[in-house]
Amino acid sequence: MLVDSHCHLDLPHFDADREAVIARAWAAGVTRLVTIGTGLPSSRAALALAERYAGIYAAVGVHPHEAKDFDETTLTELEALAQHPKVVAIGEIGLDFYRDWSPRDAQARAFEAQLDLATRLELPVIVHDREAHAAVLATLRAHLPPSPSQGEGPGMRGVLHSFSGDTAVAQAVLALGLYLGFTGPVTFPKAADLRTVVAAVPLERLLVETDAPYLTPQPYRGQRNEPAYVRYVAEGVAAIKGLSFETVAEQTTANAEALFFSHTDTETQKRPG
Ligand SMILES: [Zn+2]
Repeated sequence: MLVDSHCHLDLPHFDADREAVIARAWAAGVTRLVTIGTGLPSSRAALALAERYAGIYAAVGVHPHEAKDFDETTLTELEALAQHPKVVAIGEIGLDFYRDWSPRDAQARAFEAQLDLATRLELPVIVHDREAHAAVLATLRAHLPPSPSQGEGPGMRGVLHSFSGDTAVAQAVLALGLYLGFTGPVTFPKAADLRTVVAAVPLERLLVETDAPYLTPQPYRGQRNEPAYVRYVAEGVAAIKGLSFETVAEQTTANAEALFFSHTDTETQKRPG
C-alpha cells in the first residue's frame, strides 16, 4: 500500500482520462491520495473530487503563484471549504522566489494568513518552498502554534513538500516538527545532492508524493506524471536508504495516516450509522 500525499488531479492535464488515472492509482496499490488546491477554484475542484471518491482527500489553499489575488474574502471562503470532513490540510501555501509570479510581500501575507488559519482550524499545512528556504523557515518559526505539551516539540503539523533544500535546511524543518515530502527527482541519476538529503532524513519523517502532473519519476520522466507512479518515488527512496520497497511503502503510509487521516477516521467512527 502507498499514499500519494501530493498531486493535482483537478488540472486540465487529466481532463481527458481522469477516471482511468484514478483507477490506475488504486490498481498500483495506492490506498489514498491527497489532491491539492492552488487557489479557490482549484480548491473547490479538489474537494469535488474528494466527495466523489472514497480514497481521495483534499487540501485547500492558495499557492504563492496565486498570492497576488489573496484577500480577506479568499480567507473566509477557504475557511468555509476547510470545514468539510474530507479536507485534510491547508495547502499548498508558501513562498516561491524562483518564479516570483506574485510580489514577495503578497506571498508573505498569504502564507502567514493561511498558517494562522491552519492553526485556528487545527489542520496540518502543506508548504511549498522554491528557492526561499530561509524565508520559509523564518515564517514557520514566527507562526508556530502553541505546543500541546511542553518539551514535546513546537506543535507544528505539516509537510514541506517536494523538498529541494540541503541537509542543513532539512534538519531545521525536522526540528520544527514537520515531515519532508519527496518527489520524482529522487529517481534521477544526477540528483546526488537530493540523495544525500534523503539518506539523512529518518524514514519516520518522510512522505512520498508525485506532485502529478509534474516531476515525473524515472522511468516515465518527460511524460505526464500520475499518482500510480508514486511507487517509483518509494522505490527510489528505498534504493537510497538500502531498505526494501515494502518497508518504505509501509512506513510512509503510516506517516501520511498520522499526519492527514487519523483525525478523519476518528470523525468517521464518531458518525452514527
Ligand atoms: Zn504541488
